[in-house]
Amino acid sequence: MNKIEARFIQSLKEILPPDRVLTSDEDLVPYSFDGTAALKQRPGAVVFPLTAEEVSECVQLARRNNVPVVTRGSGTGLSGGSVPLEGCLVICLVKMDKLIEVDEKNLTLRAQSGVITKEIDDACAKVGLFYPPDPGSMKISTIGGNVAENSGGLRGLKYGVTRDYVMGFEVVLPDGTLTFLGNKCVKDVAGYSMKDIFIGSEGTLGIITEVILKVLPRPKARKTMLALYDSMEDAAKTISAIIAAKIIPCTLEFLDRVTVQCVEDYAKIGLPTDVEALVLMETDGHPVVVEEEAAQMMALAKANGARDVRAAADEAEGARLAAARRNAFSALARVRPTTILEDVTVPRSELAAMVAFIDAVAKKHKLQIGTFGHLGDGNLHPTFLTNERDHEEMHRIEAALEEIVEETIRVGGTVTGEHGVGLAKKNFLKRQLGEGSYELMRSIKKALDPQGLLNPGKIFD
Ligand SMILES: Cc1cc2nc3c(=O)[nH]c(=O)nc-3n(C[C@H](O)[C@H](O)[C@H](O)COP(=O)(O)OP(=O)(O)OC[C@H]3O[C@@H](n4cnc5c(N)ncnc54)[C@H](O)[C@@H]3O)c2cc1C
Repeated sequence: MNKIEARFIQSLKEILPPDRVLTSDEDLVPYSFDGTAALKQRPGAVVFPLTAEEVSECVQLARRNNVPVVTRGSGTGLSGGSVPLEGCLVICLVKMDKLIEVDEKNLTLRAQSGVITKEIDDACAKVGLFYPPDPGSMKISTIGGNVAENSGGLRGLKYGVTRDYVMGFEVVLPDGTLTFLGNKCVKDVAGYSMKDIFIGSEGTLGIITEVILKVLPRPKARKTMLALYDSMEDAAKTISAIIAAKIIPCTLEFLDRVTVQCVEDYAKIGLPTDVEALVLMETDGHPVVVEEEAAQMMALAKANGARDVRAAADEAEGARLAAARRNAFSALARVRPTTILEDVTVPRSELAAMVAFIDAVAKKHKLQIGTFGHLGDGNLHPTFLTNERDHEEMHRIEAALEEIVEETIRVGGTVTGEHGVGLAKKNFLKRQLGEGSYELMRSIKKALDPQGLLNPGKIFD
């Protein structure tokens, strides 16, 4: 470590006690990567603030010393967003984990950014409330990370994504200013909606330290069903038929053949391993409506070619059926040493064709790809099962990904439906957005962070 860095570390230790400043090589290793395969870089230091004021002081110090800052929640990101830059300062917010208030009068919840997503819904459940966004990582991801990535989840079709629940937040700007954007008001049109620019900005515009979330009354009933298909086309037709019947289920998820086989190997749920697609369907709300919608959805699945449709008798069996989808990533991750979880979204009408396209790409490049995802949202997760040490195979994956992304853009889709751009997708961003929108986005970054202090090299080159 050179002299300036040593002085910088010393100054950090004047802001925070030494046990909240990590600098040794062995301490820094766990903060050198996130959930994205094959991306790592050692930071210069990692700090754990407890308050927004401490975050602000660290940012001001970094700014004076021109040290880049990478904000980190739990590091579960899948686009390399919290992968450090060499020698940067990582500000990790996991110790800012106070759930401040559940406001039953205003149906809001206030929490520090390091609170784990599931704890937010658990706190709501205790008083009959509901926080719907449920990313697959909700047992470990932080709410700050969710806001920074605008994360989605399995209930997105009916309930939307994180953005739909963010009413306001406290944020530290790149010059260290501490400010609050938004409030508890249901309506607010006072000036530009600045908070919306920060949601999904992947730690490039500010560090969110506290959030106010909208919460809902908890649905009184829920019904879970599984439908099994011999053709992906039939699964996609069922989704269109359900939507056309004016039913918006909370969940319409799917697994392809490769993923079903891996899940059955891993979780032994009793699934047939010769199906082409498995669809997990869930409806929630008033008990009478739930029963009626569930019956309709099962009938539509059968009418559209489902080989078998199962309905859970109760919550416990529902959780068992849903485990097929919830276990998809873990099941695929056991197969080979490296798992590259991709994230493209296409208009719903293009779903079946896109799954077939991914299948063909896998065959052409002799790759193992399991695809699962949010069928109701058109959001697919083609997952490459590989070994990052096999450079030849990694080149084939690059070529396959390029083809999948090209096709996604060609059919009017997006290169990321929920995992963000980060490092992993930044080469594709301009291709999707076009010069005009790309430059508009970049001008916002330049205006808010002229020094390029926060998460440089992410989203943009
Ligand atoms: C098994 C698994 C399943 C997943 N399932 C889903 C899913 O269903 N849906 C989905 O959308 N994602 C999913 N993800 C991706 C990931 O969990 C989400 O992106 C999550 O929101 C990241 O939260 P985190 O706390 O881990 O943030 P990190 O990974 O630490 O950071 C993510 C990004 O946000 C920035 N950031 C973090 N905290 C803050 C803050 N307080 N202020 C400003 N910037 C910040 C970071 O700089 C980085 O750019 C999954 C990941 C895994 C490993």
